[in-house]
Amino acid sequence: TRSTRPQRLLNAVRKHATRGDPQSVISAIDHFCRHSEWAMNIGDEKGSILDSVVSELNPEKVLELGTYCGYSTVRIARLLPPGARLITLEFNADYAAIARQVIALAGLEDRVQLVEGASEDWIPRMKEHFGIETFDFVFLDHWKDRYLPDTKLMEDCGLLRKGTVLLADNVICPGVPDYLQYVRNSLSYKSCYFKSHLEYTKAEDGLEKSVFLG
Ligand code: SAM
Ligand code: MG
Repeated sequence: TRSTRPQRLLNAVRKHATRGDPQSVISAIDHFCRHSEWAMNIGDEKGSILDSVVSELNPEKVLELGTYCGYSTVRIARLLPPGARLITLEFNADYAAIARQVIALAGLEDRVQLVEGASEDWIPRMKEHFGIETFDFVFLDHWKDRYLPDTKLMEDCGLLRKGTVLLADNVICPGVPDYLQYVRNSLSYKSCYFKSHLEYTKAEDGLEKSVFLG
């Protein structure tokens, strides 16, 4: 049977990246997606905005919604301080299996916990199952109709504290109008837009950074 795109992406990483070197994993994936096959990673251009938000925050407890092949997981995890933890959620078992290998190749498996399952099922279990009090940083990049309900769910489950930063990808393309309307108008958030382009294209897209004010 034919291979899948995530399998071909993993093969490109195996061929071109250096084990234990996260930057080489990132570069191998970006090269594959620019020159062979487009894939839904945050990509290099928006990725550098993600990098600066993570570096400025220096978060210890991080949640990522939507792992896919682990590209953004590797981007975030490589910048975390020692002892920090990144929990990433992925409900597609085939993608999760690829991501595990990409994360291991980058040498970051000690900081990353990949959890297989749906965000709406796992968010309410973060406290009891992982001993999480609150997250310092949340990266939202799963299906777009889940950004708003999962944000409200994180609020209800007490996973956000004063100062928690939410960073949402693809707020223009494909777009998340209900989520933007919420974080931009709620008095519980201070929100701003970072203009950029859809991964590996020239189409406008961007990231929305929203600080929870409690
Ligand atoms: N963050 C990744 C990156 O930039 O490298 C890309 C993630 S991709 C855009 C979105 C992923 O979220 C898909 O792999 C999809 O299977 C997963 N997903 C979508 N809805 C989900 C949900 N409710 N719970 C868990 N995973 C979900
Ligand atoms: Mg995205």
